[in-house]
Amino acid sequence: MVRKLLIAPDHLSNWNNIMRLSYWAMSLLSLAAVFMTWLLILSDKPYASPAFFEKQVLIRNSLILGTLIVAELIYRLKSSLQDYIIIMLGSCFGAITLALSSTEVRGVQIVMVLPILVSILHFNYGKVIFACWVTMVTYLFIMFVVPAYRYEFALSQKAIGFSVIIIVTLISLGIVNRGLQMMKEEKEALRNEKKHRLQQQAVHEAASMDALTSLENHKTFQERMRLTLADESQSQVHLAILDIDNFKLVNDTYGHAVGDQVLRKVGKLLRTCSKENIFPSRYGGEEFTIIFVGLDDKAVAECLEHIRLETERLSFGEMEDRNVTISIGCHKLQAGETRDVLFRLADEALYTAKRCGKNRIAW
Ligand code: GH3
Ligand code: MG
Ligand code: MG
Repeated sequence: MVRKLLIAPDHLSNWNNIMRLSYWAMSLLSLAAVFMTWLLILSDKPYASPAFFEKQVLIRNSLILGTLIVAELIYRLKSSLQDYIIIMLGSCFGAITLALSSTEVRGVQIVMVLPILVSILHFNYGKVIFACWVTMVTYLFIMFVVPAYRYEFALSQKAIGFSVIIIVTLISLGIVNRGLQMMKEEKEALRNEKKHRLQQQAVHEAASMDALTSLENHKTFQERMRLTLADESQSQVHLAILDIDNFKLVNDTYGHAVGDQVLRKVGKLLRTCSKENIFPSRYGGEEFTIIFVGLDDKAVAECLEHIRLETERLSFGEMEDRNVTISIGCHKLQAGETRDVLFRLADEALYTAKRCGKNRIAW
């Protein structure tokens, strides 16, 4: 049971747990002080005040401990009330301390504003107002029911206490307001930053991607070619140029919208082949390119054959279920060849494929 009480319930928020531990620390310190004084009185030390060991002090400490234990039980039974329990705990702390302290101890009334100060941590107007009400009711009770205060405290003294509660509440509401405003500004700044990042991303995509096929565009292809050939660690580089066969006929027969649809589908197929070392792009019109990095001839040939066959298998409802084919020219970069030579040789291979009857791969 004691062990269970010492371990914080899982649902308790960080701040509530800090407050819970602070209340425990305060009451245990107070108990330790009583215990030490008791030892000093027993050993007849002249500076040990017997007042420390009065009955009232014992009752106060026992009540505080009892309240803490009740609060621990409520945390466990009703987790949703944790914020309110912490606020009320502060109020009970204040009330017990005040009610059982000598009225001659000046300034002790200040403990009453403890729950209002604690409520600031929640950054919620409702909780500050709740703490204010709890404090007001408790303070009223002590000032007009507890005999020591009822008779010994002048009305003007009581009024000062109420003014302090109201002033502290107003200051707390001000702090909460400023805190919420800062959080709002922070959120707004984060939202703007995210929006800006997305806009930048969109601008970058618009500049580097092809809008119709969502493949990399001509500019990105050229940049990638430059970077790939500049990287001397790449031992094998292949370039393939793909051209849809008789595409003009598709446009002429079914219209450009259907032609666009064909380009989109072929683009989608090429996107699915894209990997960390296979870079497809739309070169322009009905022509596409693929850069292969670090793959041998066999692997490149298999990939291209797969693309050729899959293109042939694509079916287009818009074209009375007719299909399209592609011709492919491929060249492997040889030592000493430049970017232009690589492109020219791949292009020549493409023309060979066209000349030899289309729907084929030529090297
Ligand atoms: P080949 O088999 O020899 O490649 O013949 P082809 O008809 O495919 O080639 P050609 O160069 O004669 O025609 C290509 C056509 O592609 C001409 C052009 O109008 C069309 N085209 C280019 N870009 C687009 C586009 O973005 N959308 C559509 N729908 N058509 C395009
Ligand atoms: Mg063409
Ligand atoms: Mg063509």
